[in-house]
Amino acid sequence: MSDVSAPRVAVVGGGLAGLVCAAELRDRGVDADVFEATGRAGGVVHTIAEGGYQIEWGPQSFLWEAGSSLDRWIQRLRLGVLPPADAARARYVLKDGRLLNLPRELPKLLGPLGLLRASREALGRARVDPTQSVDAFFRARLGPRVADRLLDAFVTGIWAGDPARLELGSAFPRLTAKVESSRSVLRAFFGGGGARRRTASFVGGMEDLPEALAEHLGPAVKLEHRVQSLLPPGSDDRWVLRTADGEAHVARAVVLATSAHVAGTLLAPHDPALGELLAAQPTAPLATVTLGYRSGAFPEGPPEGFGFLAPEQEQSFVLGCLFPSSLFPLTAPSGCVQLRCMVGGRRHPERVEKGDAELVAGCHTALEPLLGITRAPVTWRVDRHREGIPQYELGHATRLRAIDERLRGHPGLRLTGNSYRGISVPDVVADAERVAIALAGSLTA
Ligand SMILES: Cc1cc2nc3c(=O)[nH]c(=O)nc-3n(C[C@H](O)[C@H](O)[C@H](O)COP(=O)(O)OP(=O)(O)OC[C@H]3O[C@@H](n4cnc5c(N)ncnc54)[C@H](O)[C@@H]3O)c2cc1C
Repeated sequence: MSDVSAPRVAVVGGGLAGLVCAAELRDRGVDADVFEATGRAGGVVHTIAEGGYQIEWGPQSFLWEAGSSLDRWIQRLRLGVLPPADAARARYVLKDGRLLNLPRELPKLLGPLGLLRASREALGRARVDPTQSVDAFFRARLGPRVADRLLDAFVTGIWAGDPARLELGSAFPRLTAKVESSRSVLRAFFGGGGARRRTASFVGGMEDLPEALAEHLGPAVKLEHRVQSLLPPGSDDRWVLRTADGEAHVARAVVLATSAHVAGTLLAPHDPALGELLAAQPTAPLATVTLGYRSGAFPEGPPEGFGFLAPEQEQSFVLGCLFPSSLFPLTAPSGCVQLRCMVGGRRHPERVEKGDAELVAGCHTALEPLLGITRAPVTWRVDRHREGIPQYELGHATRLRAIDERLRGHPGLRLTGNSYRGISVPDVVADAERVAIALAGSLTA
């Protein structure tokens, strides 16, 4: 076996989670290398320049909160944060084929009965069962109109998921904790408190973040190093990782910062029960369809705002559509408009496999009447996220506890990434940092 390198920690996966984890380890004096399968660091965070457009492959933006782990990394890496244009505050929800502006048109969305039913909620005292479904909780507390017309859209926007399957406490831990303490969903939403979070991107697009992390890590990031197998420590206390080129690498500790599925495949030969727990993680595949239009295609003016979401009962081809060039004007050439549709998700995974032409036509047809578009797009791009968004469905918290239990039998093995404790960019960064701090503590103790 060629002992090519012997980092103390091998981080598998060079997405945001792996990069942050390795950077935190190294900043704490622990030697760590990142093994990334592809030729680029950043995973789903990827900004593409094409035909004068700046197109995001994964996240369009993030929620920026002062004092968060992500905020600390932004300061450490001296990243230029880009706030959205003022016009982009407007958010819309589709109802009966029309876009309603929220919160202004909330009464129209819910109707008088829906509003009355929801407002009664603040009079009661909510008991929260974090293991119930998101839909069951909101339906019982705020009524069917809120559940079907508002919550469904909100869940689609974040999870591309099914509210009847997502687990309340795992999918929305902050909100669950706030409802637990204020005893009301409405008081939790409108009662103030909690840190202010603002939508933002970076000056050069979302990829500024992984690029800066990769630069900070330098040669510790090993691209095109797909880890194909892992051998747990024998008597010499060392893990052996074998990469696709047949090379073996040794490490004292391993962090798997890949999806749970990949982690499960690597671990199954040595711990089938752990492999099975990891493989059981459901995901929602998603296609993003980016359309470029000339401004003249919108006789009433290009859409302004963050975008719109479509609740399931609207039976729209798209889950929602972002308005990137309203949010961040430099994402489209002058005189052009960029729109970015989400298609598929947990409830319509088959749509992700449709051909490019069908996806583009389906999105354009869905948008035409809603946004008053009179001409076809002049350019488009289809991206398929087959691994998609991990879904924290009923039983997620129990499964995580079982995974943690099995990990106790593998000292020196850690898991991080969006499969476990949060899918958003800030949550992924926070979890990776937490895992690195704990591991550094155990290695240097
Ligand atoms: C379409 C889309 C839109 C999103 N929009 C937003 C948004 O607007 N705001 C927000 O906050 N979040 C958003 N998210 C979520 C967020 O971007 C992700 O949850 C987060 O970036 C995931 O980071 P990660 O490091 O956990 O995983 P990944 O980015 O998936 O990284 C995993 C890495 O592991 C590598 N890998 C896999 N197998 C191996 C192996 N065997 N050996 C070595 N390397 C391997 C992969 O190549 C990849 O680079 C979005 C996600 C998607 C998909």
